[in-house]
Amino acid sequence: MNKITMTTPLVEMDGDEMTRILWKWIKEELIEPFVDLKTVYFDLGLKHRNETDDAVTKEAAIANQKYGVAVKCATITPNAARVKEYDLKEMWKSPNGTIRAILDGTVFRAPIIVSNILPNVRTWEKPITIARHAYGDVYKASEMIIPGPGKAELVFTDASGKEQRTLIHDFDGPGVLQGMHNLNKSIESFAHSCFSYALDTKQDLWFSSKDTISKKYDHTFKDIFQEIFDREYADTFEKAGITYFYTLIDDAVARVMKSKGGFIWACKNYDGDVMSDMISSAFGSLAMMTSVLVSPDGKYEYEAAHGTVQRHYYRYLEGEETSTNSVATIFAWSGALRKRGELDGLPELTAFADRLEQAVLSVIEDGIMTKDLAMITTTPDPQVKNSLAFIRAVRERLS
Ligand code: NAP
Ligand code: MG
Repeated sequence: MNKITMTTPLVEMDGDEMTRILWKWIKEELIEPFVDLKTVYFDLGLKHRNETDDAVTKEAAIANQKYGVAVKCATITPNAARVKEYDLKEMWKSPNGTIRAILDGTVFRAPIIVSNILPNVRTWEKPITIARHAYGDVYKASEMIIPGPGKAELVFTDASGKEQRTLIHDFDGPGVLQGMHNLNKSIESFAHSCFSYALDTKQDLWFSSKDTISKKYDHTFKDIFQEIFDREYADTFEKAGITYFYTLIDDAVARVMKSKGGFIWACKNYDGDVMSDMISSAFGSLAMMTSVLVSPDGKYEYEAAHGTVQRHYYRYLEGEETSTNSVATIFAWSGALRKRGELDGLPELTAFADRLEQAVLSVIEDGIMTKDLAMITTTPDPQVKNSLAFIRAVRERLS
């Protein structure tokens, strides 16, 4: 059989623990037999990040900027326990945070839907994609405990020394205080990423915030989105047959619950944090969520939404059988290959990505799945497969 050719390499970012094991099997069983795979490889496994003083993460992100499309395996974000476990020189930062900061991107998360796993919300027929703004607000806030009576003010001193002040509160007793910010530049990037991703995937875009209460802060988000839309996207949206609309977050929540799905819901940082967990659990499983980072200038990084599945990895190391779901990681590969195919004008590569996804879905819909899905499927007596056997079942379907 002739393998499908590629012209531009994918940026491949390898990772940690159980997902690193799945990564190798996915390549060997599902990609390399069919595609003449070209990648620029970066090992983002924690051991190698530590050896390179985390330079490898930055190099990988820069390569992502250069080549345009990356596929990333889940990676450990070190905490104190990991520093000990891996004897780390430092508590290295989250690789995803580092990559996001370099690409200035927005993360889009969407569930993978199969007919025999029903969402908890009966009306949902199509995926709901959450776009979470990944900068500022409460995640970069300054806070204070107020011990007793006193006056709190918001003060801004401009470059020439001129002050702007506004009263926050006259405390007559103890309380709490918080100051947060955002940047027009970051909100603009967020808006561009959302509009271009909506066009790319031909889905309507919703954006919600609380502008009725937050008349300056949230209202600025709303205004920036609207200005950019009117100026740069209104025509192309119309031609593509999709819409953009802004609504109050309370209204958005109510509408989402009654919707059929099939749209992108852009959220401010905190709203996106909370709503993405709600959407993913209501659709069934974190192991069935895809995630793609899209930069405002159209660079893509595909990955699974879940982590490195540490508990399964320790079982794997003990020689025990694991039944880890590889679907989101397979879809990270198919997403990246499809995008590469579109950018390079390689219809065979794009078609292969479709076939790979179709093979995964049809295997599960025929009742063959990993343990996590077997617990929630409507298929009676599903065939539970171990990690590798599931991947092999997909391969059989593909061949
Ligand atoms: P996790 O890897 O997402 O796993 C949490 C639990 O969810 C697992 O123990 C497992 O439950 C279930 N699960 C998740 N993915 C699964 C899959 N593909 N198949 C079957 N079950 C799955 O989260 P974590 O254990 O909290 O984090 C482990 C490491 O991942 C951490 O070091 C963290 O820093 C990292 N992480 C990385 C990313 C990323 O790179 N994007 C994202 C999140 C976390 P059962 O054990 O009950 O089967
Ligand atoms: Mg969260």
